[in-house]
Amino acid sequence: MRVGIGYDYHRLEAGRKLILGGVEIPHSKGLAGHSDGDVLTHAICDALLGAAGLGDLGQHFPDTDPKWKGASSLKLLAQVVEMLRAKGLRPTQVDSVVLAEEPKLAPHFVRMRETLARVLGVEPAEVNVKAKTTEGLEALGRGEAMAAQAIALLESA
Ligand code: MG
Repeated sequence: MRVGIGYDYHRLEAGRKLILGGVEIPHSKGLAGHSDGDVLTHAICDALLGAAGLGDLGQHFPDTDPKWKGASSLKLLAQVVEMLRAKGLRPTQVDSVVLAEEPKLAPHFVRMRETLARVLGVEPAEVNVKAKTTEGLEALGRGEAMAAQAIALLESA
């Protein structure tokens, strides 16, 4: 078994869709980024890559590559899962936390878990998503950004 951690942080901007865990969530702002800005999926990708000893997301999917401009981060995740498979590994469990002041994310957890689990090739019960506010403090608390942390467990395929 192998474990890895992932972390990501993105600015929030007006006029962009908010995508978290591959799910569109109604909100007045969305996450900035070269792709769809899905901070949760990016943290999960980095946890998986870390567990496999495969470096990090930016190394494999540089934000200068036009191929990934506006792309769904689920496509990046699918590609990471493929890279694991090529190394004889598969994800078995993921836990994660999103740091966001608003909106309330709990109503969307089920869909996020189902969506991420489908791409990861595991049951939704093996993908946990949590949320925390930062009690109004700093950029996260002012609603200027969101962050995510993830941990992933891999086993031999
Ligand atoms: Mg990112």
